[in-house]
Amino acid sequence: MTKEKGCLLCLPSKYPLIWSNSDFRVVLINDHSYPGYCRVDSVIHVKEMTDLSDSKRHEFMRIVFIIESVLRSHLIPEKINLASLGNITPHLHWHIIPRYKLDNHFPESIWANPKRAEKKELSESESLILIALIQKKLSN
Ligand SMILES: [Zn+2]
Repeated sequence: MTKEKGCLLCLPSKYPLIWSNSDFRVVLINDHSYPGYCRVDSVIHVKEMTDLSDSKRHEFMRIVFIIESVLRSHLIPEKINLASLGNITPHLHWHIIPRYKLDNHFPESIWANPKRAEKKELSESESLILIALIQKKLSN
């Protein structure tokens, strides 16, 4: 099965597409609380990491770690949060979330009750720079 009826992640992303191939896509969530927040989605509707072959699983994590590396060096966050939950949308995806001491939930997870109400999303030009950096790294 490659698509699941009613699954939001089986649809084209509403977020800007940074990069994709036949198996994975990278989108820029760029949430207003977490500038640079990216997500890597499986293109195919699978639920768990162990639904992928070893090589696809390895490729998935390679993409996640490349994005983590770019976010760390370019945005200098306090911490990177990697999360693969999928309880609400059981379609395999990883969140790569740069965290800052004054972001709305720090030091709690971004799904906790907010402690602040900051709005600091990347500007359009900052987004384009980040997208270009990630595309360059993923094309190597
Ligand atoms: Zn799906």
